[in-house]
Amino acid sequence: MEKRIGIYPGTFDPITNGHLDIIHRGQKLFDLLYIVVPNNIQKNTMFTVDERIALIKEVLKDCDNIIVTKTDKLTVDFAKEVGAFAMLRGLRMVSDFEYELQLSAINKAMDEEVETVFIMSSHELSFLSSSSVKEIVKFNGDISKFVPDVVAKALQEKIHN
Ligand code: ADP
Repeated sequence: MEKRIGIYPGTFDPITNGHLDIIHRGQKLFDLLYIVVPNNIQKNTMFTVDERIALIKEVLKDCDNIIVTKTDKLTVDFAKEVGAFAMLRGLRMVSDFEYELQLSAINKAMDEEVETVFIMSSHELSFLSSSSVKEIVKFNGDISKFVPDVVAKALQEKIHN
């Protein structure tokens, strides 16, 4: 049978337990899941693309059937290149909906064949975002419940050193 390949695109600045929840639940839908970080976006990130990728790889080092990579391509083009039939995205609250709807419509307009698949965040993680975690670290708050240890350490070093 043909392999079911999916991609999970995102900024992951840095990866949080919210992203991991989507990855672990999404993994069940695919034989192979690419986690892909765009290399060319105009976002002001705290971590470089290579730092973000290194953190994701470290956190997922024991997971099979996951490939972590960056791309210079449009997400839909990357999906096509690796033979993915779907893009995975997470939905937290209604506020995510409008942005995600627009994004999936644009992607659909560019490539009819690639579907976007949404997974609703687990309710205890629905408030969690990379930006809130970065804010908490700036004020010396405890982020141990929100990110894996290696990410917490990287954040502390980045912000306080
Ligand atoms: P982007 O810049 O592409 O939105 P993010 O890293 O912010 O990159 O998010 C990537 C995807 O992960 C998005 O679909 C986002 O809604 C989802 N996501 C982020 N945090 C959570 C969370 N706590 N629970 C569920 N999904 C999440």
